[in-house]
Amino acid sequence: MIIFKQSKPIREWLQQQQDKGLMIGFVPTMGALHKGHISLIEQCRKEADLTVSSIFVNPTQFNDPKDFEKYPVTLDKDIYMLEKAGCDVVFLPTVSEMYPGGLQSPKQYDLGYPETVLDGAYRPGHFQGVCQVVEKLLSIVGPDKLILGQKDYQQCMVLKKLVEGMDIDTAIVIAPTQREPDGLAMSSRNTRLSQAGRDKAPLIYKTLQLIRQEIKPGDITALKNKATGILTAENFKVDYVEIANANTLDLIDHWDGTTPLVALAAAFIDDVRLIDNLLL
Ligand code: AMP
Repeated sequence: MIIFKQSKPIREWLQQQQDKGLMIGFVPTMGALHKGHISLIEQCRKEADLTVSSIFVNPTQFNDPKDFEKYPVTLDKDIYMLEKAGCDVVFLPTVSEMYPGGLQSPKQYDLGYPETVLDGAYRPGHFQGVCQVVEKLLSIVGPDKLILGQKDYQQCMVLKKLVEGMDIDTAIVIAPTQREPDGLAMSSRNTRLSQAGRDKAPLIYKTLQLIRQEIKPGDITALKNKATGILTAENFKVDYVEIANANTLDLIDHWDGTTPLVALAAAFIDDVRLIDNLLL
């Protein structure tokens, strides 16, 4: 596995590989890798000739500075895991390498409706920061395919919009969410949970499954309230439990029985914010 820390050498090297006809797949991450990330590397290896990953804890997508400070960093273990999974190239830029002109974005991305709901509403500026870093990474790596996890459902929609809106020649592949045996979606943030928090955390996924079991055409607000109530009764601080059109993310209160749906949840246990989603 080749490690690059600077943009220019990785861009030049990858360009040479593309000129030889190799197809490049890219898995951007913020590190603290787990089996969910590794499943994206495995998917990428099937989709492309060269698998490139990046580890960069992007400061501009953290609306809460404490969340950024506490974000887990396990770089040596990450490099070991990537190498073992057959990743070919890893990019490890510093903040100044990524943002030589400072953290302020020179532009606002027009992300439309998806930025106004759910995580867009609860984490102001978050998706602007995600687009800022992903646009930059895509310009450096120039991948043919970008592999993303369904775990971050809304992020996938926003990045599809970014790639389409900016006419970036990269196909997006969405890989399924990997879970712990008890159903908890794997996440770098899980390592910050106390034992008591970790024991409670699978209730988020169980609640999404309950929605899938109980949903019926008609008014679904009572079901959403029931789901929220289950989590708040266990002392989760719920940002949202919502049911949305799976294609547009329009929030649905009355289901016609045919519109494809996704249930999404975001909730804090102690001070750790977890998200999850389930196609219904
Ligand atoms: P992150 O390091 O959290 O920024 O995530 C990097 C990529 O891994 C994103 O595309 C995430 O959606 C994806 N990812 C995170 N957790 C999981 C998971 N449990 N299963 C599959 N993909 C995941």
